[in-house]
Amino acid sequence: MAQFENACGECGYTTGWCSQSEADERLMRHYLDRHPTVPPGGAHRVRDGDPSGGGCGSCLLVLVVLIVLLAILSNR
Ligand SMILES: [Zn+2]
Repeated sequence: MAQFENACGECGYTTGWCSQSEADERLMRHYLDRHPTVPPGGAHRVRDGDPSGGGCGSCLLVLVVLIVLLAILSNR
C-alpha cells in the first residue's frame, strides 16, 4: 500500500510516512497549532509502501484498464 508524507510550507515540519488521511490530518493539526493564520499548503509526497517486489502493481493495473478501454472502443 502506498504511503504519504506531507511537508509544511512554512517551516521544516513533516508528517512522516503514514496513510493519506493521517498525513492530511497531521498537517492540518500542525497548521492549526503552529500557523493558525496561514492556509494549509506545503508539499505532498507519495511512495509505494511495498518494497517486496510488486512495486509496479498499480502501473500494471492502469495498463490493463487502458487495454480493456481500447478494446471496448475499437469494437464500436
Ligand atoms: Zn510548520
